[in-house]
Amino acid sequence: NCGQCTLWCPTSAISEKSEIQKVKDAINDPNKVVFVQTAPSTRVGLGEEFGLPAGTWVQGQQVAALRRVGFDKVFDTNFTADLTIMEEGSELVKRITNKEVTPQITSCCPGWVKFCEYYYSDLLDHLSSAKSPQQMFGAVLKTYYAKKNNVDPEKIFSVSIMPCTAKKFEKERPEFNSAGQYWKNKNIRDVDASLTTRELAVLIKENDIDLTKLPEENYDPMMGAGSGAGLIFGNTGGVMEAAVRSAYFLITEQKAPEALFKLAPIRGLEGIKEATLNVPGVGDVKVAVVHGLNNARIVMDEVRAGKSPYHFIEIMACPGGCISGGGQPRTSVPPSDEVRKQRIATMYNKDASYVLRESHENPEIKKLYQDFLEQPLSHIAHDLLHTKYTERKGNLKAKKLV
Ligand code: SF4
Repeated sequence: NCGQCTLWCPTSAISEKSEIQKVKDAINDPNKVVFVQTAPSTRVGLGEEFGLPAGTWVQGQQVAALRRVGFDKVFDTNFTADLTIMEEGSELVKRITNKEVTPQITSCCPGWVKFCEYYYSDLLDHLSSAKSPQQMFGAVLKTYYAKKNNVDPEKIFSVSIMPCTAKKFEKERPEFNSAGQYWKNKNIRDVDASLTTRELAVLIKENDIDLTKLPEENYDPMMGAGSGAGLIFGNTGGVMEAAVRSAYFLITEQKAPEALFKLAPIRGLEGIKEATLNVPGVGDVKVAVVHGLNNARIVMDEVRAGKSPYHFIEIMACPGGCISGGGQPRTSVPPSDEVRKQRIATMYNKDASYVLRESHENPEIKKLYQDFLEQPLSHIAHDLLHTKYTERKGNLKAKKLV
């Protein structure tokens, strides 16, 4: 077990099983093309494995290292973080305008999702049906990208670099074979292997590569562009802030006001944060941001009692969000608040420096809808990008788990 997660994840979802050899075998297999995606928060963690201070930005060096390790294409999970926002934001707008079940609750954290499936299975209809960025990436890679580039989807080996050990579990969920269903080929899985940030560091070092000496390189096109909104997905409050920027636009067809680009009440390390947003045509929208599963229990008990004041809730299992996930470097175990703050500060500073800060403005996302997905919540978007959850109450061994 990863150490950190056993502290925080009571669901046994999280155990670290190395997939380094599996990835090396794929890289050495002449019949495979090996494509990789990198999660938002690995770029503010990886440097610590090479002696750099917590929060050092190594996005470009990480891309360069992945190419030198042997990946054929290096893509960005921020691209599908933007896609998740498009689908999840559209779902939220639909739920609010049609007076469907609210609060909508985020579902991009597999540690949280599994916890909910065990302990709050009566509330699964509150979870957004939008898949996580990791899983959307795999589904789009082996359909849209494969088709556009004439690559045999069965030859694609899809790897994710994640700050998270629970992502290894998530990719194995039987339902995450949307590309296989699309091609009617049960051998095709959406994501074939997931490495933690720490495993990536091992792979880089095994190849005698010094990350600190590498030039900064750019992601490959088509699935390599991400907005500032996609980037801040990696820290507590980031998914909500990203969603708010786009949901405002989807409802009003106007750019969100400047205040929504630095949503102070939902930033920082307080366990439960909330904000009220006034959206023209809708009125007050109340949102909450929660990290750590003990805090999740508090807001979920409120939802169960019918007393939740919120329309939308972000929940992340790890305190601080993915920047301090169980797969990140162990500069301190568990990460100190100081380390968390340094990683988070880099994320927000980079977002503030970007020209592209809204998911719906990402040109590669616009092209994906134009050429393939049609529009958010379309039939094909539902097939590839949305999912259902599993009641696991019957399997619960609560006495061991909490
Ligand atoms: Fe994984 Fe992020 Fe959830 Fe932690 S918060 S379990 S790193 S997805």
